[in-house]
Amino acid sequence: MTRVLITATNRGIGLELARDALSRGWTVYGSARTPENAAKTQELLDNNRYRPLVFDVTDHKAVEAAAAGIEAPIDILINNAGIIGPDRQKTLDMDFGGFAQTLEINTLAPLAVSQIFLPHLKKSPRGRIVTMSSQMSWMGYQKSDRIAYRASKAAVNKVMQGLATDLKNEGIVAIPVDPGWVRTDMGGAEADNHPQDVARGILALADRLTLEDSGKFFNWAGEERAY
Ligand code: NDP
Repeated sequence: MTRVLITATNRGIGLELARDALSRGWTVYGSARTPENAAKTQELLDNNRYRPLVFDVTDHKAVEAAAAGIEAPIDILINNAGIIGPDRQKTLDMDFGGFAQTLEINTLAPLAVSQIFLPHLKKSPRGRIVTMSSQMSWMGYQKSDRIAYRASKAAVNKVMQGLATDLKNEGIVAIPVDPGWVRTDMGGAEADNHPQDVARGILALADRLTLEDSGKFFNWAGEERAY
């Protein structure tokens, strides 16, 4: 039976990833930042294969404590938690504190969480790390709005590509995935994609990933796309 750990399952894409994974019969470890949100999510999902965890992805000690409480292998880690960044994030008008926080949550935390759960992924015959990136990371765009967010996602792509290289000998796959524009608090009501469809696509991709795919950039429909 597949065991998946998903960060930030209390709302948005993460909640739908958890719902879809449970419907596949998988065991889901899902995190929220507060005990209240963890309890609410557990109540909402109402499934004994759902295991709530409480941590902020930037709090390495809290992530380590959660990891210490899990004996079982983790087959798939989905680094889903993320923020859009500060109100002021133009190159010529930058909230630098907000930029640093965006990098901490969107770029550094996926690497830290991957490192902390590496022993669990190594216990799986087919460990896989899937990290939420964005089409806004694409270097082909000349766009300069939301530059902190764009930079954080471009950087996490590079981090995942490096992790893929470094984990190949361990047989562990690492990829960034672009979920498209999704109807959540972050994406807004006008977005193209339903989080349910995106979650289904990402889990189908995660399910079939092989070492050949490691280090490539995929979209939510499971197609390889340009970095
Ligand atoms: P939402 O804003 O709907 O949800 C964000 C989730 O991340 C919340 O559960 C939030 O928790 C959690 N989170 C934020 N900061 C932290 C933190 N420091 N530690 C732990 N959890 C945290 O976003 P989406 O569901 O839309 O996005 C999910 C992922 O997909 C993100 O990485 C995002 O960048 C990416 N993405 C989304 C797109 C979209 O169009 N929606 C497009 C491209 C990428 P809390 O409730 O406590 O705030």
